[in-house]
Amino acid sequence: MSHHDERTFVMVKPDGVQRGLIGDIVSRFEQRGLKLVGAKFMQIDEDLAHEHYGEHEGKPFFEGLVEFITSGPVFAMVWEGADATAQVRSMMGETDPAESAPGTIRGDFGLDLGHNVIHGSDHEDEGANEREIALFFDDDELVDWDLDTAEWVY
Ligand code: ADP
Ligand code: MG
Repeated sequence: MSHHDERTFVMVKPDGVQRGLIGDIVSRFEQRGLKLVGAKFMQIDEDLAHEHYGEHEGKPFFEGLVEFITSGPVFAMVWEGADATAQVRSMMGETDPAESAPGTIRGDFGLDLGHNVIHGSDHEDEGANEREIALFFDDDELVDWDLDTAEWVY
C-alpha cells in the first residue's frame, strides 16, 4: 500500500444483487483504477445489521433498513487506492438515487431512497472505512498484491 492509498468498505446491497448489478459495479471500480483487496458474497444477520447501521438506530427508517439489508445476500468488498473512500462515494452519487447525477451508480440504477443499490463508507466520518472493513472482514481475508497494469499491456 503506497503512502496516499487507503482502503474503503463497499457493498452491493440486496436490491443490487437481485438485479444482477454486481458485475457492473465491480467493473466501474476496476476501470477507475482502484484495487480489489477483499470480496465476500454473504448474508447479513440481524446483529451485524444493527452494528453496521448503529448510527441510524432510532431513526424512522431504521427498522425498514435492517429488514432490507438482511432480506437477501450482499456482495461485500474492500477497495484500495488514492483517496479511495471519497472517490467511491463520488462514484456512488447521493444517498437518494433520485437526486444522484447520471453517471453515478445510484444515479444510473435507481430512484428509490430505500433501495439505493450500494453502500460505501462515509468519507466525512473519520475512521468509518477501517471500522467497517474490520466489521466485515478478518485480516487474513484481505489480500496484499501489486496492481501493475503495465505488465499486461502490449
Ligand atoms: P449513505 O448510504 O449514503 O451513507 P446514510 O448513511 O445517511 O446514507 O443512510 C444509510 C442508508 O439508510 C441509506 O443508504 C438508505 O438505504 C437508508 N436511508 C437513509 N435515509 C433514509 C430515509 N429517509 N428513508 C429510507 N431509507 C433511508
Ligand atoms: Mg452512511
